[in-house]
Amino acid sequence: MKKKVAVIGAGISGITTAVLLQQSGYEVSVYAHEHPLKETKNPYFSSLFPSASIIPHSVFHPDLNEIFKLSQLFFSKLHEISFAGLTKHEHFELFAFENSAVDYPPLIDGYETLTDLEWHPKHPDIPIKSGWKFNCFFADWTDYFPKLVHSFVQNNGTFINKTIDLNSYASIDEDIIINCSGLGSAQLINEDKSPLILKGHLLKVNNAVELKSPSGNTVSYNFSPGSDIYTDSFGTPFDVYCYPRKDDWILGGSRYKGTLDDQGNWISEDELSQQFPPQIESLNSEIIKETFGTDLSEFSEKEYQYSYRYVRNRKNGLRIESENTSDRLIIHNYGHGGAGVTLSWGCAFSVLQMIIKKTEISNTDITPEQALISLANELTKL
Ligand SMILES: Cc1cc2nc3c(=O)[nH]c(=O)nc-3n(C[C@H](O)[C@H](O)[C@H](O)COP(=O)(O)OP(=O)(O)OC[C@H]3O[C@@H](n4cnc5c(N)ncnc54)[C@H](O)[C@@H]3O)c2cc1C
Repeated sequence: MKKKVAVIGAGISGITTAVLLQQSGYEVSVYAHEHPLKETKNPYFSSLFPSASIIPHSVFHPDLNEIFKLSQLFFSKLHEISFAGLTKHEHFELFAFENSAVDYPPLIDGYETLTDLEWHPKHPDIPIKSGWKFNCFFADWTDYFPKLVHSFVQNNGTFINKTIDLNSYASIDEDIIINCSGLGSAQLINEDKSPLILKGHLLKVNNAVELKSPSGNTVSYNFSPGSDIYTDSFGTPFDVYCYPRKDDWILGGSRYKGTLDDQGNWISEDELSQQFPPQIESLNSEIIKETFGTDLSEFSEKEYQYSYRYVRNRKNGLRIESENTSDRLIIHNYGHGGAGVTLSWGCAFSVLQMIIKKTEISNTDITPEQALISLANELTKL
């Protein structure tokens, strides 16, 4: 008989985990406040808003690179089978100051540093001092997330509209519980008194034109203009970005620090966080004009949005671990910060491994390659 799993949360972490567990032979139900494709505006439901680059921004975990590497394996396979919305294109990380503060370059495809580049996006007045380029996966949210949700449903997955609290765990029938409740975890688990929650603003420009490099490739960028130009109220430098989708652009970004009050509302001492940062529009507009000759003001259909990234804090960061309770196995998968999409498959695979390790009698383990083959076979059929 199939083992039954309850996933709490219908965001990208919950749905990805649910899909992978289904493909690996489990019967999965997803419990959530809402149906993921019916809710559209709640900023506390982060998976409605990701810009969805596959880059580990604003997230902490000791094994981050390992999880990122695993995730990329899955994205590569999905890209190979042309899974809806998954693209790969030239992405630039650019800085107006010296910066080499990341350690993921060995894990990415086509990495080149600024000095090797013949061409890169530019601001007309702010010189770029450092940076790199690579071939980056992007999940076009209009297609990718709905397709994943449909895959879950088509494979006999069930959605249960229910809010879970500390006392209602007992009412869940399934043998195994996976907690993917995102920001909800702060209350559900009751473990972190003032978690770090970064507010992020987005400007969605609808029906925009494609942004291409001189060699005809689609291009995206993150640009950090320096602390004299764009920061929060406390001087933390911010970056802006432009990520093209099929028909739109997603412009960001901001990372205002705050936390949750007892009722689960976001609070911050940073007054700047209350307004849409004008730099997102002005800096991006200047870069797009200078680099591609395109005028942002030509596109009138714009949506101003914001949502929250649950970072927890630098020390604890992402929580991907099992908890020993007397009656059943609980696995936590939350605190993905600005990288929930990026890490979604790596975390889902870690959950699968934990379940196998904790519940199977034999000493069998599963390799990513085995999981990938069955996943790709099933998803191709749908
Ligand atoms: C502006 C912005 C830009 C971003 N860009 C990127 C990017 O480029 N790349 C990237 O990888 N990531 C990005 N992210 C981060 C990404 O959006 C999140 O990490 C991710 O969406 C988190 O997904 P999740 O499924 O863990 O949580 P969520 O999407 O928050 O989902 C939580 C789910 O749990 C449910 N839930 C919560 N509590 C309960 C409860 N008690 N009972 C029942 N259900 C409950 C909710 O209803 C929801 O269904 C961005 C985030 C923001 C805000």
